[in-house]
Amino acid sequence: MPPLQPIRGTHDILPDEYARFAQVVETARAVSRLYGYREMATPVFETTEVFARTAGETSDVVMKQMYSFVDRGGDPLTLRPEYTAGICRAFITNGQQQNVPFKVFAWGPMFRYERPQKGRFRQFHQLDIESIGAAEPGADVEVIAVGADILERLGVLKDTELLVNSLGDPESRAAHRKVLIDYFRAHLAKLSEDSKSRLERNPLRIFDSKDDGDRALLPNAPLLKEYLTPAARDFFAAVLKGLDDSGIAYRIDPHLVRGLDYYTHTAFEFVTTRLGAQGTVLAGGRYDGLIGELGGPPTPGIGWAAGIERLMMLAGDPPAGPRPVALVPMGEAAERKALALARELRRRGIAVELDYKGNMKRRLQRANKAHARAAIILGDNELARGMAAVKDLDSGEQKDVSLDKLADILAPVA
Ligand code: ATP
Ligand code: MG
Repeated sequence: MPPLQPIRGTHDILPDEYARFAQVVETARAVSRLYGYREMATPVFETTEVFARTAGETSDVVMKQMYSFVDRGGDPLTLRPEYTAGICRAFITNGQQQNVPFKVFAWGPMFRYERPQKGRFRQFHQLDIESIGAAEPGADVEVIAVGADILERLGVLKDTELLVNSLGDPESRAAHRKVLIDYFRAHLAKLSEDSKSRLERNPLRIFDSKDDGDRALLPNAPLLKEYLTPAARDFFAAVLKGLDDSGIAYRIDPHLVRGLDYYTHTAFEFVTTRLGAQGTVLAGGRYDGLIGELGGPPTPGIGWAAGIERLMMLAGDPPAGPRPVALVPMGEAAERKALALARELRRRGIAVELDYKGNMKRRLQRANKAHARAAIILGDNELARGMAAVKDLDSGEQKDVSLDKLADILAPVA
């Protein structure tokens, strides 16, 4: 039988790599806490409608990328392709309207049926930040600042550029939509099939197309910024001013749109040139229409998601964890004593390596391989005196220590 293989577009995260993964999550957790964002989680799957309704029928995610299936009970389910819809669904079903602003951090696996390549997987992981209930531009600024600070702590902010744009309010969008349809209709033959089908339903999404023919039409396409209502214009100006006041650098990109239909006003992305075609590391925007769309009380919101795998590719190596001590028992009595001692040391928070077998030489070799800071050698003579020999594996220095003092001497500095 051929050996079993993982599913295309999925990947195992072995311990060395997981240390980098954990560093990204822990950094995001720590920074989001500083801003008052509390960690939460939602189920990995939801009724398909949660994503279908919110993503809009014309979105790429819905049309091509969802992992949808009918379960044994006949219910249409989908593995989440993103976090925002699930968190908004949870906000509604758990009656969190009284708890606004509802500021949360979440992370977890996402699933999209995409063509796998560098930085693009079918199961990948996202960090996610959402601020629900605040309609003020200050919320946009704060949400972007959390993202910038996470990137900075990971050492990747310097390799990214923040792009911002305004998608306006529904009124701005409607005015722009008309001229945009006219423009693309005049160039219909050059549009990709996908974009032809987007044209009547959501022409703005053509800005997000990866097709070269479509892209060639974009430089001359009418821009949304010419059609912003005064209110939408003021809102955008306030966000930009807040970014200036916060010391966050950005560039206005009038071509930036988001892939999902529920975005309004602010759209933003942190992009890098270091990941080839997969250059967006963190992306988000305001979604004032989403919660109403899901059947909840109309509630504004803004948030972002960042690909953990892409961040891992950019971030440096995480600092090494605390080094263990190795117990080296010699003889049967010592091996038995070592079991109790190891457990006691671990209870005190000291990482202990204890091999299941082997002579002193083999055990010391493995202690070095585990990068242990000290070896605690338990021989018959030492044990008889209630002592152990503690050998510092960096300096080679060795001294006898009484067993009941061991934990104190080895205790990690708190
Ligand atoms: P892209 O333009 O790269 O397809 P997107 O617009 O589909 O991105 P979002 O839905 O905004 O991306 O997701 C936010 C972030 O999640 C992206 O910026 C990226 O870092 C990450 N991401 C999205 N899809 C994938 C994937 N298939 N594999 C790995 N990371 C991904
Ligand atoms: Mg995509």
